Amino acid sequence: MKVLVIGAGAIGACAALRLAEAGARVTVLSREEPLTTLSAHSFGWANAIDEKNSAYYDLSIEALAAQQRLVADVGEAPQWLFRHGNLHWGRDEASAEAQQAIADGYRELGYPVEELTVAQTRELEPGLALADVAGPVHFYPRDVHVLGHVLLPAVLDKAQEAGAEVRIGTAGSLDEAREGFDAVLCCAGRGNADLLPGLPLLEPGAPERLTRGLLVRTTPVAEPVTRIIHAPGLSIRPHTGGRLVLHCHDLDRTLTGDGDVSAVAQQVLERLPAVLPNAADAEVEHVFTGVRPMPRDGMSIVGPVPGQDGVYVIATHSGLTLAPVLGEIAAREVLGEEHPLVEQFRLTRFA
Ligand SMILES: Cc1cc2nc3c(=O)[nH]c(=O)nc-3n(C[C@H](O)[C@H](O)[C@H](O)COP(=O)(O)OP(=O)(O)OC[C@H]3O[C@@H](n4cnc5c(N)ncnc54)[C@H](O)[C@@H]3O)c2cc1C
Repeated sequence: MKVLVIGAGAIGACAALRLAEAGARVTVLSREEPLTTLSAHSFGWANAIDEKNSAYYDLSIEALAAQQRLVADVGEAPQWLFRHGNLHWGRDEASAEAQQAIADGYRELGYPVEELTVAQTRELEPGLALADVAGPVHFYPRDVHVLGHVLLPAVLDKAQEAGAEVRIGTAGSLDEAREGFDAVLCCAGRGNADLLPGLPLLEPGAPERLTRGLLVRTTPVAEPVTRIIHAPGLSIRPHTGGRLVLHCHDLDRTLTGDGDVSAVAQQVLERLPAVLPNAADAEVEHVFTGVRPMPRDGMSIVGPVPGQDGVYVIATHSGLTLAPVLGEIAAREVLGEEHPLVEQFRLTRFA
């Protein structure tokens, strides 16, 4: 079977690998070089997803297992998956209560969450400033972080070893692109909306949910963190070479899509010393702005496109978490076998 995979972000790369391993003749077509995609710059926190939706939770739990299968199957490659967990805390009574409610929700689902004292937290991350912590620090030991810029070349190389061909170019119209292929798998992130007009993805800046996002990569710091940190107002993950990636949800809401974002990047950076005092001399090394591929109802879209024979789509704003499992599932489904874990994610729910 000849399959065209459109997109070489995390979703396209993982799907291409699993399809090629399953014996499909795979061509990957990507508008950009993989290292310039959203996936290569993403925050990369992979976790159980409690959206009060058991199908999403079950999929994300399987995703954490699939992360490890991917590492094992790709074999000799630089490390991209780090299993050090995630620390989360509040700054006042209201935010501490909100954190507690989130943690209790996960515990009810059977997902482990520990409550740490400041002293215990310091043992994990000695560099953090924790004087203003309100309530316990919640530690999610099963959460992981993924370095997209390391994963992508490793997985695409492995896919090529398994026979996939990778081409850089634009798909243009889907009908033209699919000429000569038995099936097309659209993994174009936000670009899926151009390939499949009417696909229910939110427009950038739509008020319903956060779509635009800005990620700051810092210069190397002397004492970086080793795990995902969600401090009040600032999220941090380790990058390679002692660098950090910083993200502020509230500042994402100020992005308009026009003009210079360096002032916003500077605001993000200015929050760092209050959380990690020894990183006070860090500078902005790189700024990335992207648009989350956000389905209208906040759930992922996975499955065949109704009315378009042989066309399958994946669009998700949890792409770094779900890519390994969705790659496995899409490969099976494109080759003809339905998978129960994605039954709730079909496009037909919008009909
Ligand atoms: C600020 C921010 C933080 C985030 N944090 C997290 C997080 O912590 N955890 C998490 O799981 N997710 C997170 N996400 C979301 C995650 O980054 C995305 O869900 C994921 O990167 C999407 O992967 P993708 O492969 O679908 O798309 P992309 O990585 O965007 O790749 C799309 C690919 O399609 C190609 N393409 C597009 N249009 C065409 C076309 N017409 N022809 C040919 N090729 C085309 C592109 O060139 C590219 O190769 C975050 C997103 C943002 C913005």
